[in-house]
Amino acid sequence: MLDQAQRILKDVFGYDAFRGNQAAIIGRVAGGGDALVLMPTGGGKSLCYQVPALLRGGVTVVVSPLIALMEDQVATLDELGVSAVALNSSQSADEQREIAERLRQGEIKLLYLAPERLVQPRMLAFLQRLEIGLFAIDEAHCVSQWGHDFRPEYLQLGQLAELFPNVPRIALTATADKRTREEIVQRLQLERAERFLSSFDRPNIFYRIVPKDQPRKQLLGFLAERRGDAGIVYCLSRKKVEEVAAFLSEQGFPALPYHAGLPNELRGHHQRRFLNEEGLIMVATIAFGMGIDKPNVRFVAHMDLPKSLEAYYQETGRAGRDGLPADAWMAYGLQDVLFLKQMLANSEGDERHKRVERHKLDAMLALCEETRCRRQALLAYFDEELPNPCGHCDNCVDGVQTWDATEPARQALSAIYRSGQRYGVGHLVDILLGRDNEKVRNLGHQHLSVFGMGKGLSEGEWRSLFRQLVARGLADIDLDGFGGLRLADACRPLLRGEVNLELRKDLSSKAPKPASSAASQLVRSEEREQWEALRALRRKLAEEHSVPPYVIFPDATLLEMLRSQPASLADMARVSGVGARKLERYGQAFLEVLQGGAEPPKAPVDIRHELASLARAGMTPTQIAAQLNCSEKNVYSLLAELIGRQQLSIEQALDLPEELLGEIQDAFLDGEGELPPVAEIAERFSRVPVGVLHCVRAALEAEFES
Ligand code: ADP
Ligand code: ZN
Repeated sequence: MLDQAQRILKDVFGYDAFRGNQAAIIGRVAGGGDALVLMPTGGGKSLCYQVPALLRGGVTVVVSPLIALMEDQVATLDELGVSAVALNSSQSADEQREIAERLRQGEIKLLYLAPERLVQPRMLAFLQRLEIGLFAIDEAHCVSQWGHDFRPEYLQLGQLAELFPNVPRIALTATADKRTREEIVQRLQLERAERFLSSFDRPNIFYRIVPKDQPRKQLLGFLAERRGDAGIVYCLSRKKVEEVAAFLSEQGFPALPYHAGLPNELRGHHQRRFLNEEGLIMVATIAFGMGIDKPNVRFVAHMDLPKSLEAYYQETGRAGRDGLPADAWMAYGLQDVLFLKQMLANSEGDERHKRVERHKLDAMLALCEETRCRRQALLAYFDEELPNPCGHCDNCVDGVQTWDATEPARQALSAIYRSGQRYGVGHLVDILLGRDNEKVRNLGHQHLSVFGMGKGLSEGEWRSLFRQLVARGLADIDLDGFGGLRLADACRPLLRGEVNLELRKDLSSKAPKPASSAASQLVRSEEREQWEALRALRRKLAEEHSVPPYVIFPDATLLEMLRSQPASLADMARVSGVGARKLERYGQAFLEVLQGGAEPPKAPVDIRHELASLARAGMTPTQIAAQLNCSEKNVYSLLAELIGRQQLSIEQALDLPEELLGEIQDAFLDGEGELPPVAEIAERFSRVPVGVLHCVRAALEAEFES
């Protein structure tokens, strides 16, 4: 059987070898056994049921909670020549009947269903009359009431065991913890399932955490080496999302905002653009992520601290699903801690729950101030031991310098105590540095014994020290007041001189950093031109087939083409990711690009469509210009053009006060016969952008023509 599996892997999927546990898992379920698969994002879970689906008779039913994911998978299988469909509520009755008929005829190998759909009695009865080869339950952690993705419908999937006693079941998840695992087994009645537990390490991700200093500038520095890469920038608040997205656009990075406060249509639009285009940056709150299957996200940057390591792991895990080098970058500072602690204090929920959340935040902080390998620390939190430092995180690569901070820490604690345990870091640092400013003098703090005692350290060093005191729980933030610092019980041994304190030395952000990861060097400069040509062809094909580019070929496959330079179709067939169907469909076209024969196809960049939908979604011309990275003048002239062609109404295009619109219309309609040119009335409306006049004129013209 494994021979046959191997052949399917090569012929259909175009891959040479199974990864990790894939072969064992496939052997188990293809042979009729149940399996529980725990594998990190990007580990290759899909193949674990897609290959058995092709090995076994009948149809494989895949339960998945997210429609977007189902559609992505169906499109991918379709491109591979595997007959797969997703049933969803947006299909018409006719379409659904047709699918049912094809299922009865045994023409479909994989059927994707949302859980609520599957458990409908009618659906179950229908399925019982079919030959079912396998049930695959994806995102199986959704059955856990404890986790944050709980879906009540998942609880009902347990009945599959009784209704289909002879059909094997495979449950898959990227959620690792033991408690969730046991819940899956129990609730899905998978007691007899063999468990396949993979390492949760994501070796292709490079982790870096920097102290927040000038966050935007730091972000630009990080992005500078990653121009043209797709990535996600996470921020905590909607406002910050908007600001950072606008800032990046101004700086020439194509960035889109995404948060729950945006109109649905616009949000969906941004998500689609992120999936379908290359090199876009999504600036988002954590509302963005669940269901993002884009494999070539090259980086995830955090402008704010996540509230737990679980969240950090999951969010950074969206980078590099394709296995190619990717970066997880974060800037973190004391403000983040203050903010999260405040949120926690104000949150609903009982004391016990809050205590758990506080512990989780502390673990997150500990990772930020970690002096050992970040990956070792991260995995240790998930009960996995990495025997050696990874060599692929900032701490491993840059080395961490520590210093004996015992004495300065005592001074800092003393400054907190003597000033009355109510002031923030700024003021405390002023005291330590002996700054004789107004606030200090008004409070009489120049008379404190610690005043001016800390001149041996710089302002930055003091700030770093205070941050680490809080992160280590030696000082607390006063959440009722204005974020002043208090002593924590844990600092007593230090104050009594019973212990010493070693702290991290912050690397100066000005110091040149060794090239952090290979992500920016995915392709070398001499390869760049051909790489872009390959990507352009892929983009064109993707547009023709209405699928995201990575469904045509993943980056890894294009990269292998670039490196191995296949010269014939036979060579091409050997490239990983080129299966029989894709070879037949696309092989020749890509060969031609590689041989330089074909002009790289120019993807026509027509922003009109885009622009129209942004306008309809209520964006102003200024916002649209920022979004599309073009001038406002350009936006107005395209708007006028669209209005002229009646593809957009003036109301959709511009948010003009009715009165003003009337005035402008009157001015145009004043004379006899033809509408006057804009220039003629422009003087009277010097307070509105001239583009507005063009739009109104175009609307009037369109009205006359029709
Ligand atoms: P998961 O669902 O576990 O996040 P996927 O099933 O989406 O991961 O697989 C991640 C990527 O790895 C996909 O692009 C997939 O085609 C690729 N992949 C999976 N298994 C293999 C393999 N054996 N050889 C090469 N590529 C693979
Ligand atoms: Zn490391």
